[in-house]
Amino acid sequence: MRRLRSVKIVATLGPASSDYATIRALFEAGADVFRLNMSHGTHADIQARHEIIRKVEADLGRPIGILADLQGPKLRVGTFAKGEEELVEGAKFRMDLAATPGDATRVQLPHPEIFAALEPGSSLLVNDGKIRLLVDDCGKDFANCTVTVGGTISNRKGVNVPDVLLPLAALSEKDRGDLEFACALGVDWLALSFVQRPEDVIEARSLAKGRAAILSKVEKPAAVKAYDAILQVSDGIMVARGDLGVELPVTSVPPIQKRLVRGARAAAKPVIVATQMLESMIESPVPTRAEVSDVATAIYEGADAVMLSAESAAGKYPVEAVTTMHNVALSVEKDPTYRQVIEASRVVRRETIADGIVAAAREIAEATNIKAIACFSQSGQTASLVARERPRVPIIALTPLMSTARRLALTWGAHCVITEPQERFKGAVISAVKAARADAFAGEEDMIVVTAGVPFNVKGTTNILRVAPCDERLISKVDPE
Ligand code: PGA
Ligand code: MN
Repeated sequence: MRRLRSVKIVATLGPASSDYATIRALFEAGADVFRLNMSHGTHADIQARHEIIRKVEADLGRPIGILADLQGPKLRVGTFAKGEEELVEGAKFRMDLAATPGDATRVQLPHPEIFAALEPGSSLLVNDGKIRLLVDDCGKDFANCTVTVGGTISNRKGVNVPDVLLPLAALSEKDRGDLEFACALGVDWLALSFVQRPEDVIEARSLAKGRAAILSKVEKPAAVKAYDAILQVSDGIMVARGDLGVELPVTSVPPIQKRLVRGARAAAKPVIVATQMLESMIESPVPTRAEVSDVATAIYEGADAVMLSAESAAGKYPVEAVTTMHNVALSVEKDPTYRQVIEASRVVRRETIADGIVAAAREIAEATNIKAIACFSQSGQTASLVARERPRVPIIALTPLMSTARRLALTWGAHCVITEPQERFKGAVISAVKAARADAFAGEEDMIVVTAGVPFNVKGTTNILRVAPCDERLISKVDPE
């Protein structure tokens, strides 16, 4: 089974998509990676979904990526005596540490570290930014505010503090427990919410101990500012437009999306564009024109993956939403303008031998009729470098490691195949040719490019490029051992 597109699809699982039949249907419709959201559902729910995905993977014989999304330091107000209150523009409203039920004049905000970081002039955003409060004065246990945008505030609504670098631990107690649980289950990626600094990523990495790759969700102004440093210590990036559009003016999200996608691609790390991509499909079987255009834009920009959130987790049409993304991808990727845009935005890097080899592989693919680029990869690094080139032909990533194959499910264009560990280059070429033919990338008459590092099983040794005929008899004749 092979996908006829290069961009990947991430589908969030939830109540609308937690049984075997639906998860399998989502995969068959095009989902390459499933997101398990640790903010919702019990560990038992998460474990059940994880087991079903692995069963689908075994039944269909294709590696599937699983991404566990940690909630992160999400701030919430306390509760109200009446459950909710109406805040009107111009009114005064106080946040403090007192655990007594709130009313129209005040509510608890049980985070002393926030009060310590606030200053007069800071803003507090409540309920996805629908309500805005401006801090007039504040102390170590209170903030007196003026309502600048009114609305209904109710029990345990979320609070965002956009313009302050919060002295919050990147991982709450809950996150630490969830991280350990997810790693023990065997997820492939951990997504970190509300990353503010590179140290946040480094801390999660030290807890994951190599069991999962680390993806940073960029959804705070501080993360946008420190993007280059955060990217450097992350294995992947999510443009988390939901919270980003609350913390920053919503009109600043598109330029940030472009910058983040370009940066991640230049670093050969997968980048996901997320949130509200097909929002109307939560209720409707057909998307709006604007949503189709938004998915297309992310693909034209060169994102590795596009993501569904509530559309697949809680909507009425999860499978239709995946099918829509798949069809948008087919339409964009066959557009000649897509190739032009992708090629124009390629970053030229010729610093290492591996860079040179993957660029040469792509150039050969452009100039000749070869059918695929096959690469042998232990860690997935060579496959990621080939993907950075965004070649015209499919990428067949061969690896003996299931964990590598599953992680690469997020990487643009990578079709992963598990092989025996290789020892000789000739055997590797034969394995590559067999894989290309088995999955119908090439026929006996065709040629493919093969890249590998010899000696095998040593990280970072990409040093061979071979144009190979897909007829094994020819390989035996001409190839040295
Ligand atoms: P969330 O993250 O869905 O976990 O909030 C994505 C976003 O904020 O866009
Ligand atoms: Mn978010």
